[in-house]
Amino acid sequence: MADTPTHSPAIDTGVLAQLACPACHGDLHAEGSCLVCSACGRRYPIVDGIPALIVERAETTAVREI
Ligand SMILES: [Zn+2]
Repeated sequence: MADTPTHSPAIDTGVLAQLACPACHGDLHAEGSCLVCSACGRRYPIVDGIPALIVERAETTAVREI
């Protein structure tokens, strides 16, 4: 059970569509092994395919504007 797709999201996009940022209810998108809120920039870790949508555990690094 070691096969991990490298170019697929760490979470099913159908599940992702039903999730929202617990801090601001913004849209989340998968980025590597994290879910990133496009509204407030918080990053939530995905553990074993389950997103840990816990505000206290989110990384609040500044959002980089391109
Ligand atoms: Zn947010």
